[in-house]
Amino acid sequence: MTSGSGDEVKTNSLNNKEIARYSRQIIVPDIGVKGQTRLKTSSVLIIGAGGLGCPAALYLVGAGIGHIGLVDYDVVEENNLHRQLLHDEGSIGKPKVTSAAEALKRLNTDLKVSEFCCALESSNALGIIKRFDVVIDASDNVATRYLLNDACVLSGKPLVSGSALQMEGQLTVYNYKGGPCYRCLYPQPPPPETVNNCSDAGVLGVVPGVIGVLQALEAIKVLLGHNGTLGSRLLLFDGSDTQFRNVKLRSKNGDCVVCGTSPTITELIDYVEFCGSSPNDKDKGIKLLNDDERITAQELARKMKSDEKFVLLDVRSNGEFEICALPDSVNVPLSIAEKEIGLDMIKEQIVKIQHSSDHERISVYVLCRRGNDSQKAVRLLKSKLQDLSLNIKDVKGGLHSWTHTVDDTFPIY
Ligand SMILES: [Zn+2]
Repeated sequence: MTSGSGDEVKTNSLNNKEIARYSRQIIVPDIGVKGQTRLKTSSVLIIGAGGLGCPAALYLVGAGIGHIGLVDYDVVEENNLHRQLLHDEGSIGKPKVTSAAEALKRLNTDLKVSEFCCALESSNALGIIKRFDVVIDASDNVATRYLLNDACVLSGKPLVSGSALQMEGQLTVYNYKGGPCYRCLYPQPPPPETVNNCSDAGVLGVVPGVIGVLQALEAIKVLLGHNGTLGSRLLLFDGSDTQFRNVKLRSKNGDCVVCGTSPTITELIDYVEFCGSSPNDKDKGIKLLNDDERITAQELARKMKSDEKFVLLDVRSNGEFEICALPDSVNVPLSIAEKEIGLDMIKEQIVKIQHSSDHERISVYVLCRRGNDSQKAVRLLKSKLQDLSLNIKDVKGGLHSWTHTVDDTFPIY
């Protein structure tokens, strides 16, 4: 016998369709009808519809969370598809929140999705966050982490924070049950040039997958008031040897400027200024050198066609050099160039050129992917090789600029 809506059991707030759909989960003692009902009436905000946000959203929606909010200003790119699995080839060029919302609604038509196709900023963060019960930080930059942290403290929301890079990931819950906030542990942002992101350092797609799914788990446990939540603990995942480790975090800092006993931050500040870096990793250019210490990709192209002899030093990693490289460039990764062995390799190249050139002053043009590491390398080499008569310059904008201004068939990654 089928039962219409009028015959549904009224003793709980799950309808028959929901009981059937979530039955395998409802019979878990930690969930039960009460827990499932709680999930249905709960809302989770996810900042970032990328490598962490996609799996987190997928599992939250699968679990029956009633309302998901997605914040992302970006559009889907081909290089996202190895890890951001709510998006597919047909979504390239679409806003990520639209693409993700469509995929999530295909999974669960009862879902309410709020799409915020914008950057999270000091002007909009509190207004968005207050509409949700739990916030998931699935962003990829320091400015957004501080902004989100402060906004969650000011709004009294738990913050499930995850990160992933290369083969490693991290996960914790801030501002939860008297535990620390992000600022308690990191009162000051790191220098912008020391921060790595997926775009520069890479990430194995599975790793944010693992962390994002665990973010969904923690968010669910927070909503259910479960005791085992990762508050005051940090989970470290090492994908290279498949190990999980838990470390106890320092407790809440009484002097914390946002969650301490006498906070000085009582409203959101300018986080780009505070961190010295922009949330948008695509324009994360640094400027360490003066203009007379740099040449453009077009100038390099002219020099390559001329008789001038010079060392073209590519300071990207070996793996990146393998992807693509300019002819006659020599690969000494920045991390090696900092060491004696790297400097010796570079000196060897300089000596080679000296033998074949009439010029007394040898030029070294330093190249990387986007023109950040090359500037660091120029600074380094100028100090380490100052006894040699050298003209060391970096190639502005690196290989990306080469593709854009010299040779559009040169691969971009
Ligand atoms: Zn704090």
